[in-house]
Amino acid sequence: MNDSQPRVTLLGAAGDVTGSAYLVETGSARLLVDFGLFQGSRECEEQNVLPEQLDAPRLDGVLLTHAHLDHTGRLPLLAKAGYQGPIYGTPATIELAALVLRDAAKVQLADLERKRRHNPGAAEKLEPLYTLEEVEDVLGRMRPVPYAEPVEVAAGVKARFVEAGHMLGSTSIQLEVAHPAGPRRIVFSGDLGPKGAPILRDFEPFRHADLVFLESTYGDRDHRPFAETIRQFEAIMQQAVTRRAKVLVPTFAIGRAQVILTILAAMFRSGRLRPVPVHLDSPMAIEATRIFQDHPELFDDEMTAMISKRPLEQDLKTLVLSASSEASRRINDLAGPLVVLAGSGMCNAGRILHHLKHNLASPDTSVVIVGYQGVGTVGRRLVDGEKEVRIFGEFIPVRAQVHTLGGFSAHAGQTDLLKWFEAVAGDRPKVVLTHGEDRSREPLAEKLRQRFGVRAILPRLGDVVSV
Ligand SMILES: [Zn+2]
Repeated sequence: MNDSQPRVTLLGAAGDVTGSAYLVETGSARLLVDFGLFQGSRECEEQNVLPEQLDAPRLDGVLLTHAHLDHTGRLPLLAKAGYQGPIYGTPATIELAALVLRDAAKVQLADLERKRRHNPGAAEKLEPLYTLEEVEDVLGRMRPVPYAEPVEVAAGVKARFVEAGHMLGSTSIQLEVAHPAGPRRIVFSGDLGPKGAPILRDFEPFRHADLVFLESTYGDRDHRPFAETIRQFEAIMQQAVTRRAKVLVPTFAIGRAQVILTILAAMFRSGRLRPVPVHLDSPMAIEATRIFQDHPELFDDEMTAMISKRPLEQDLKTLVLSASSEASRRINDLAGPLVVLAGSGMCNAGRILHHLKHNLASPDTSVVIVGYQGVGTVGRRLVDGEKEVRIFGEFIPVRAQVHTLGGFSAHAGQTDLLKWFEAVAGDRPKVVLTHGEDRSREPLAEKLRQRFGVRAILPRLGDVVSV
């Protein structure tokens, strides 16, 4: 081993929130931490290629902080380029990554078929980003790691994965790199969840670091408290039940859907709300819910106490799993009160669209928005109070009540990010702010300067930072 310092190249999520990927090079090893998909505009998605610095066959290992597509979605490109090494993640991360990546391959194939129909002349030249076979190849390389215990991931590099509180299986990772002048510690926060969120344990910060990569998605603000958001949701539900209304909740399949189900179960159990039919109308959310149920060891104390009293299934006897699209369509013929949880979370695709199309014109419908709605999506138009939205080419008048709940975010706000950093601040590490736009990471950098006297680095794509 030579005595040059380990260095990290930013291959995504630098000034942006998608495409998370870090190439770590030490004297003796080359590792990748996350390899996520760029998502958003077409220009952004054109970055979904193998960066030339990567040299996939020469990598010694890949480490995953969590299963979200923007952290795992480029992995099949490694298989395509001949990578044959291990991919490390917690058991829940591996199970959820299988769900996420197989779905991504299907979505890409469907996109490709649509493009071919629109442009038959260019049909031969069009290729999917990757195939289901490449996804399966990647899934076969995944190796489960335990929480907290150091794992040797390459020559002279030990990794420790600890709770990040962001999604089931999510972790922050500390690499301890052997060096002639003493071990060097590099910490990746991964995506951090807000403290006190339902179901999952809170993040567990590291105490030591020489170099820290800290996410900054909401570095500029704090969210509304959960307790307040849950009270708002309960009031909406009580009113809907009294009016025999349909409640439509556009929801992401992993995380948000399970949080909403758990909150409904708690309301039914306490008697504050009469049990009403709840339709989980998403094959992916049904599968993700099963994976959650298989990992009670990852639940926080509150959730553990709740399920030890009695299983949630007993509170959710009115839960209907709609796997098939016929089952989904049948929900249209049912009278309220009822709740529908369906994707996509931003109403830009998926089954939620046909529910909205059938029910937005009725003042008896409540739409509950529980997540971020991107510009240009039907979800954003509803949040903005538009009187008419276009769904499947048809203009639908909006007479439904639209409620926006701000407190269900899966990302830590500014106060929690600073709390996470406080634990390593004593080591005076070099700090790099990633996974955030400038308007979020600049205010966080300012807070870090005031509070801890550190000058955070705000890198761009391709920048290299050494310990
Ligand atoms: Zn994430």
